[in-house]
Amino acid sequence: MTVNSNSWYNNAFETLPSQVYTPRQHPDFQTALNAILQTGETPVLRVSGHGIPGDLRGSSLVDASNLRDVRVDPRQMIATVQAGARWGDVAAAAGEHGLIPMSGSAPSVGVLGYLLEGGIGLLARKFGYSARSLRSVRLLTAAGEVLTVSADENPDVLWALRGAGSNFGIVISAEIQLLEHPNVDGGGFYYQRNKIADVAHGWLDWTRSLTDDTTSSLGIVPFPSSPSIPEPVRGDYGAHVRVAHINGVESGDAVASRLVPDITPAASDFESMTWVESSRVYNDPPVPMGYVASNILTGPLSHANIDSILEFAGPSSVAGPFVTQINHLGGALGPQPNVMSAGRHGAEYALRLLTRLEPGSGERAANTAKGVHHEIFTKLGIRTIGTSLNFSLGQRLTADEVASAFEPEALSRLLDIKRRLDPDNVFSNYHSLVSSNHE
Ligand SMILES: Cc1cc2nc3c(=O)[nH]c(=O)nc-3n(C[C@H](O)[C@H](O)[C@H](O)COP(=O)(O)OP(=O)(O)OC[C@H]3O[C@@H](n4cnc5c(N)ncnc54)[C@H](O)[C@@H]3O)c2cc1C
Repeated sequence: MTVNSNSWYNNAFETLPSQVYTPRQHPDFQTALNAILQTGETPVLRVSGHGIPGDLRGSSLVDASNLRDVRVDPRQMIATVQAGARWGDVAAAAGEHGLIPMSGSAPSVGVLGYLLEGGIGLLARKFGYSARSLRSVRLLTAAGEVLTVSADENPDVLWALRGAGSNFGIVISAEIQLLEHPNVDGGGFYYQRNKIADVAHGWLDWTRSLTDDTTSSLGIVPFPSSPSIPEPVRGDYGAHVRVAHINGVESGDAVASRLVPDITPAASDFESMTWVESSRVYNDPPVPMGYVASNILTGPLSHANIDSILEFAGPSSVAGPFVTQINHLGGALGPQPNVMSAGRHGAEYALRLLTRLEPGSGERAANTAKGVHHEIFTKLGIRTIGTSLNFSLGQRLTADEVASAFEPEALSRLLDIKRRLDPDNVFSNYHSLVSSNHE
């Protein structure tokens, strides 16, 4: 059975699962999982396809995209979401009550795929990993049972799901906590190619001066020739600084002048906006595309580090082109061992490399690109603290890479819970804590 690769946001892989199940109601998940377990195949869940794990031969697909209801209880500030809900659905429903979810850059990303890996939101330095907003869950386990998971029932599983979630089952529905910050000041500042180095160094200095109210990232991007990209940088390399800020009123010009003094952006769209409009901050491509991504979490970065990043992963890199991104972490993003499994101590920045791939180019092309990313990380010589599961954007990781997303104590607790809930590693296809036949 063939699934059109365009139905995945990441269309780089060969999507030829043996079977496709499309649940229409909650019990259909159980029926689908039981049928898959009888064939001995690996279940793969799809919501939006932002995080496709790789080629899907020998897998059975459970497509949750039809089940995306969202109900908001404004009094308790809780949204109840089905397995296939996307962040845009939640932002719209919550926005009607002046509430926001702890979502990230793109409204098309699945709520649970994002939360179960930690979730680094637009205001992550203020609120920490979004996984903490997961309040309760109905989890379909490898034993085919639906487990209620909350602070009162199976609290250790709730802790594990908040960061290593795709290891333990399929989340059929969940309650998530909303917040009361209806507006955010945010937007992107675009700079032309000849300003990239000055902007990168200026952004680094600026991040050192910020309070947790501001979360930002720097993108060094070969921009496509798309009308969604401002004309001055369209079709060429440029720098894109994305900023989200709460609790203060400052004009875009004022932010730009502190960000990189003496350089005016070629374009910017910084303003006060509702959460529903906040996808403008990153301006992620709205249409499917092929890609593979790798990342490292780092401690503080120096200006020498910025120079090497520009040398090996900037516009003149012979190994590129890459979309190179540095996210400013720190703030509230430290691990909270009593609350969730996500997070690494001392992670101040995440350095990300993304290679665009042709549609359907498959795992071999992705693995070659990943090899290049790792060579570059080695050449940079930056001390690596670990990895972010979210920012791997799908792609099967080795068990060691997955392990590096967690503090050692959290990892050993997670492995105990994995042995108890999924002893045969049924949920092995995506960021599995234990080695699987995919490695
Ligand atoms: C354009 C873009 C923007 C992004 N922005 C951010 C960001 O701002 N911050 C951030 O932290 N990350 C971000 N991400 C990364 C994103 O969090 C991950 O790629 C995530 O895995 C996507 O989940 P999905 O459900 O949309 O994707 P899918 O490909 O549909 O699902 C990926 C995997 O998630 C797991 N999963 C999904 N739903 C469930 C469920 N109900 N139960 C159990 N497992 C489930 C499954 O293992 C599934 O195979 C972004 C990715 C892209 C491509």
